[in-house]
Amino acid sequence: MSGRLGRLLVLSGPSGVGKSTVVRHLRDFPTEWPGLWLSVSATTRAPRAGEIDGTHYTFLSDAQFDEAISRNAFLEWANFAGYRYGTPRDLVAEELSAGRDVLLEIDLQGARQVRASGIGATLVFLAPPSWEELVRRLLGRGTEDEGVIERRLAHAREELAAQDEFDHVIVNSEVGEVVSALVALAQS
Ligand code: 5GP
Repeated sequence: MSGRLGRLLVLSGPSGVGKSTVVRHLRDFPTEWPGLWLSVSATTRAPRAGEIDGTHYTFLSDAQFDEAISRNAFLEWANFAGYRYGTPRDLVAEELSAGRDVLLEIDLQGARQVRASGIGATLVFLAPPSWEELVRRLLGRGTEDEGVIERRLAHAREELAAQDEFDHVIVNSEVGEVVSALVALAQS
C-alpha cells in the first residue's frame, strides 16, 4: 500500500450539458482512468430503461431515503425535479482511503454541500460550448412539454451563473477531451 489517499472530484453543471455522457464513457472505458471509482448515488426516482440497481443508482423508496437521511448516510443530498438524490458517505470515504479516486456526478446544490462539508474535493463545472448549444441539447431530448422546458432553461441559466464557485471549468466540446482533463486534474 502506498498510503496515498484518492482524490475526490465533483462533476457538476447544468442539466443537459452532458455529465452523464462523461460518466458513461468512464464506465465503458475503465482503462482511461485506472483507480477511479464512480460513486453510485441513491435516488427516489424510478429506474429508466436499461438502468441497473446498484450500478447506475441505488433505487430507494421515500421511506428508505428518509431512513438513510436519519442515519446521516449521505455526504450530500438534494431534491431535483421532484425526486431526491444522495451520495453515500461511507462508501466514498472507504474508496478514498483505499487510494482510489472518486468521481461524484451531482447537481449544483450537491456540489455546494460537498464544498461546505470540508471534505477535500476538487469541484469541476462542466460548461456547454455555448448557451445556444445547451438550449439545443435541452430541447433535443424532445420528451418534455413547454412548461418543463421553460423550467429547465431557467434552472440552467441559474446553474451557469454558478460556475465561478468551482475550482475548474471544463468546456464539454468532446467527451474524450473532458475525460483527459479530468484525469489530468486527478493527477495534479
Ligand atoms: P437523472 O435523474 O437525470 O439521472 O439526474 C438528475 C440530476 O441529479 C442530474 O443533474 C444529476 O447530476 C443529479 N444527481 C445524480 N445523483 C446525485 C446525487 O447523489 N446528489 C445530487 N445532489 N445530485 C445528483
